[in-house]
Amino acid sequence: MPTPITFAAVGDVHGEHRAMVRLVSGIARARGVELTAVLQVGDFEPHRHEGDLESMAAPQKYRHVGDFPRFHRGEEAFPWPLYFIGGNHEPYAYLDETPGGAALIPGCHYVGRVGAVQLAGLRIIGVSGIHHPERSRGPRPPGSAFRTVSNKELTYFTEAELSQALDLGPADILMLHSWPAGLVTHEELSAATGRRFFGEDVGNAPARALVELLRPKLLLLGHMHVPLRRTLRWPDGGETQVIALAHVGAGRESVALIVRDEDGGLREV
Ligand SMILES: [Zn+2]
Repeated sequence: MPTPITFAAVGDVHGEHRAMVRLVSGIARARGVELTAVLQVGDFEPHRHEGDLESMAAPQKYRHVGDFPRFHRGEEAFPWPLYFIGGNHEPYAYLDETPGGAALIPGCHYVGRVGAVQLAGLRIIGVSGIHHPERSRGPRPPGSAFRTVSNKELTYFTEAELSQALDLGPADILMLHSWPAGLVTHEELSAATGRRFFGEDVGNAPARALVELLRPKLLLLGHMHVPLRRTLRWPDGGETQVIALAHVGAGRESVALIVRDEDGGLREV
């Protein structure tokens, strides 16, 4: 029987690692729980220095080194093991030095372009990046090509990577940055947030296909900075709980606490 554990899922960080630590630690303390790990759904922005900003896709006004250098230099540390996937605003020249994933610093683990992590008996699969109708057919230039291609070209997952993710299954948890299709309509999302959404904002079909084939117990999403909960029910009686998280700057809505019970079930608490 698995030991009960509690872990947190966290939305887009965008370089605000210190705010993330304060927020998640505060929530865990208030609930009186010890976190086994933190799973982060992309746009983590682990820039070591100004140079890392050069391979990030983002308008000038969003190019900030952020807090990561303090952690990279060892002046601060994450209080729990942290696992993150890449989003569409990442220093991909840096991350693509280890496309299969790596610990960037002790306790801070990049899952990779596609990767699997074993955590207290849970199998977690992650895919970095977002979908593009043409570019996702691949291949994608390596992050090291950032001076010769648009940085956006580094941000798309490929259909081959989705197949690799499927081959890594089965999975208890799937981490994606952008949303699979079929969770919400443009109208619902606009009504819920007061913002306007277009095209694949509400999800993409290849990610949906992966979710349907992999059928994880839990799907964690970021990207839209919109909190959302859904349950997908499958013909075989299985279910996938969907948790989309807000930006860390939004506070509580960017964090979900999840318990893995003795029977292996996952539930948000
Ligand atoms: Zn974001």
